[in-house]
Amino acid sequence: MAKRDYYEILGVNKSASADEIKKAYRKQAVKYHPDKNPGDKAAEEKFKELGEAYEALSDPQKRAAYDQYGHAAFDARTRAGGGFRGGGGGFHDPFDIFREVFGGGGGSSIFEDLFGGGGATRDPNRAQRGSDLRYDLEIDFIEAVQGCEKEVTLSKLDGCDKCHGSGSEGGSGTKTCATCGGRGQVVASRGIFSIAQTCPRCEGSGRIIEKPCRQCHGAGRVERRSKIKLRIPGGVDTGARLRSSGNGEAGVRGGPPGDLYVVLHVRPHDIFTRDGDDLICEMPIGFVQAALGTELEVPTLTGKAKISIPPGTQTGTVFRLKGRGVKNLQGYGHGDLHVKVTVEVPTRLNLEQKQKLQEFAQLCDEKVNPISQSFFEKAKNFFR
Ligand SMILES: [Zn+2]
Ligand SMILES: [Zn+2]
Repeated sequence: MAKRDYYEILGVNKSASADEIKKAYRKQAVKYHPDKNPGDKAAEEKFKELGEAYEALSDPQKRAAYDQYGHAAFDARTRAGGGFRGGGGGFHDPFDIFREVFGGGGGSSIFEDLFGGGGATRDPNRAQRGSDLRYDLEIDFIEAVQGCEKEVTLSKLDGCDKCHGSGSEGGSGTKTCATCGGRGQVVASRGIFSIAQTCPRCEGSGRIIEKPCRQCHGAGRVERRSKIKLRIPGGVDTGARLRSSGNGEAGVRGGPPGDLYVVLHVRPHDIFTRDGDDLICEMPIGFVQAALGTELEVPTLTGKAKISIPPGTQTGTVFRLKGRGVKNLQGYGHGDLHVKVTVEVPTRLNLEQKQKLQEFAQLCDEKVNPISQSFFEKAKNFFR
């Protein structure tokens, strides 16, 4: 069952102050209190719901998390372990990568969500999830078809290994900001106006680090080149977006790391093209072979295969080799291989060859070229 919005439960709007939330909770809690509604199951449920909503919204950290992630903020599956990864180039989970969304237009709104800036109002002390990152990766056609493992190197903000992300030297911790007295705001006078501004020293957090870490200067994160291993499943194509979870930027103040999104670009192949899970191979054959019929050796992903070309095969004829295409990404078998035959007209003929062809032409009657014949009939009718 879908959970109701916490603000809705309390009957306040999203910008409600802590005080308003408290008042709203009290008013409703009195109304639905089990003592007042003995044996009323609906009231009991409502009372529980109110408690849960109040618990989330009365705590500034929880409220900020709820504002950003909704109910998902409190799901058990939410990244555990404080999200901080130690330094030394260790990575989250080298092979935790899977297909997300198939590209090809669309999807842009998802990207905006992911890569857009954070919200405007937030508690500056709140743990913050690291940014998601995008990496464009070019792979070979065969790598995309069969799957591969890749290692990418990128520069990103990682958790500082010296202070374990806390930003303070030797665990010295934080102290109240003297500039704003811990309020996070300073009041500046502009003539007759007084304007409250975010404290420039603590940037609104109200606390400053006693002894900033010498490596990260208190930021808790450092820019580092990281190597990330990716397992790319067979069957991907250009535009596929893979998520490597936890391999984005490190979080702030113990927040979880972001994810790395790898966008794939597949280099074209010399003889194969793709149409979803189907492979297409355009195969030239001589006009004599096409006329007389032949056995044709064709390339496939797993070696050569033979197809038999019947006499009188026209250019553009497609021969299908079932199951010899690309492995389906979701595991639904394989696509097919389509061999499209192009009949090659001979060029640079020598005198003898020309003579033979002319002799051949003299032997031909209208039955030899039924397609041309039928076209000329139609054309004649058209001009009549
Ligand atoms: Zn540090
Ligand atoms: Zn301050």
